[in-house]
Amino acid sequence: MSRRLKENTGFICQNCGCEVVALTNGSYRNHCPFCLYSLHVDNKPGDRNSLCKGLMRPTGLTYNSKKGYQITHSCQCCGVSQRNKVATNTLQEDDMDEILLL
Ligand SMILES: [Zn+2]
Ligand SMILES: [Zn+2]
Repeated sequence: MSRRLKENTGFICQNCGCEVVALTNGSYRNHCPFCLYSLHVDNKPGDRNSLCKGLMRPTGLTYNSKKGYQITHSCQCCGVSQRNKVATNTLQEDDMDEILLL
């Protein structure tokens, strides 16, 4: 089985404390669907190679014609920015009300 599949696991959000389940749409979860915070665990999306592990704050929303809506996260420890796809068509979809507040 692919590494990516194995790493599609649930987690407890370090910002709001909610229990987040793994995505059921074939993608992997990298941010909380309730408060949209993420953790700095990737150097490139999905690689889980970052040693930072800082809390990443959602700072904006962009639209990509290929990938759809993406949330911009910026790390509160090292300041790096990453874009992550909005989670849809899954158990625990991203909270659209929260996204529109970005
Ligand atoms: Zn959260
Ligand atoms: Zn960081």
